[in-house]
Amino acid sequence: MRILVSNDDGYLAPGLAALVEACRGLGEIDVVAPEQNSSGTSNALTLQRPLSVWTAANGYRYLNGTPSDCVHVALTGLLEQRPDLVVSGINNGANMGDDTLYSGTVAAAMEGYLFGVPSIAFSLAEKGWKHLDSAAQVARRLIAQVVEQPPAAGPWLLNVNIPDRPHDALLPIRTTRLGRRHASEPVIRQSNPRGEPIYWIGAAGNAREAGEGTDFHAVAQGHVSVTPLQVDLTDHGALPAWSAWLHRDAGAAR
Ligand code: MN
Repeated sequence: MRILVSNDDGYLAPGLAALVEACRGLGEIDVVAPEQNSSGTSNALTLQRPLSVWTAANGYRYLNGTPSDCVHVALTGLLEQRPDLVVSGINNGANMGDDTLYSGTVAAAMEGYLFGVPSIAFSLAEKGWKHLDSAAQVARRLIAQVVEQPPAAGPWLLNVNIPDRPHDALLPIRTTRLGRRHASEPVIRQSNPRGEPIYWIGAAGNAREAGEGTDFHAVAQGHVSVTPLQVDLTDHGALPAWSAWLHRDAGAAR
């Protein structure tokens, strides 16, 4: 069993060290993580400049790119052996609902999935690493279960969010669907010291669909949320309606 560990908060993040420790004894571990905090970079790949890889004193490798770069480079040229599992995290903050589209944590796992490797993203639901140890225990239990009782043939991609609570206050795992958010808050406009306008991206919107069965709901109740993800963005249900609209006047709409 070989496990590739990455994240989006950077190779110095406490959540990465916690996830590496959670994997100890479960397989051969490789760590490839971004040099800098790359939260919110989604699935970006760095195409306009080359990437360099360094090895830290603790053996972690880090590169000057995105989370997707890390897993991409690891899988396609850096690692001598292909991993059996990619894990990403443990993120500093939740990745639920529509946020998963922007998440670098999810993206690192998704890059593994896109290359056919089973992958799991782990996030601690509040920022600040308060109960990182309990999130690490959850991660270890889940990874151990994957090792001991492999799920159905992969690849597969799981998004795990862990409430920020002491371990004995966590409720059992719930399998969930992604909730939805309202559009984010407006940008915050300020002036730089030269008097020119600058803009800060606003906060995420509040939950819009957070009912029973969603990741938002499970985590709010204190359950560990596990959402199986897929990548196909096609709106399959809308195909017939769009097809009818596009061809409503066959011959004219060419
Ligand atoms: Mn992050």
